Amino acid sequence: MSRPKPLIAGNWKMNRLPSAAASWTRELLARLGRTPVTAGELALMVPFTHLPAMLNLAFGSNVALGAQDVSAHEAGAYTGEVSAAMLADLGVRYVIVGHSERRAYHGEDDALVNAKAAQALAHGLVPIVCVGEKQEQRDAGNAEEVVLKQLAAGLEGLELAGPDDIVVAYEPIWAIGTGRTATAADAAAMGAALRRELRRHYPAMADGVRLLYGGSMKPSNAAELLAQPDVNGGLIGGASLELDDYLAIAGAIR
Ligand code: PEP
Repeated sequence: MSRPKPLIAGNWKMNRLPSAAASWTRELLARLGRTPVTAGELALMVPFTHLPAMLNLAFGSNVALGAQDVSAHEAGAYTGEVSAAMLADLGVRYVIVGHSERRAYHGEDDALVNAKAAQALAHGLVPIVCVGEKQEQRDAGNAEEVVLKQLAAGLEGLELAGPDDIVVAYEPIWAIGTGRTATAADAAAMGAALRRELRRHYPAMADGVRLLYGGSMKPSNAAELLAQPDVNGGLIGGASLELDDYLAIAGAIR
């Protein structure tokens, strides 16, 4: 199977007002009109409040939109939650599940991540399942064990119709928002381990599933990271807020 088409997914987290997001999106689309990115797919994971306007603006373009979280429930008395059906109805394509910030600040465990991924799939959304180890787990030599356990639990019982149904993001927690990045060799080794685990779950399609690296990816390190065989794109926080940086990372796809 040929390498999956890379995905350059920005994660804006809780940044930028909706009004500023609209002008940012217009500028992004204008620049992509002049210099298209065809080697990969672009996506932006933005706050719920930004989605309708950005979806309108990006309609028909090469830029997909995603949410940063989704409810594990179908519908009902869950004040404050947003369902997968609601996101799908808007035209959203991706949703992040299991980001380390949600695991750390909202107590999300693997079972909840799995339930959210199942909801996303049930409504035709593509979950971006995030996994990653803490610094002390890496120091203790347990990074691979921790990450593969998270992946196995996150995928439990999920059925895929094809490799594009799901994306996995390896995000070492010590690299997120810190300016520190995994070496290309470490990202490659974890990518290969994740691929092996995916093959256990989905033997026929694992090689087509996109594996992203996330953790202080920026223009200066993107090309080397994206060149690794099992790094099929990036989940990019801070650098995705800067148009020049986001486009430079997208331009680093080979
Ligand atoms: C993220 O939040 O998913 C992330 C990778 O952030 P940053 O690029 O800022 O490290």
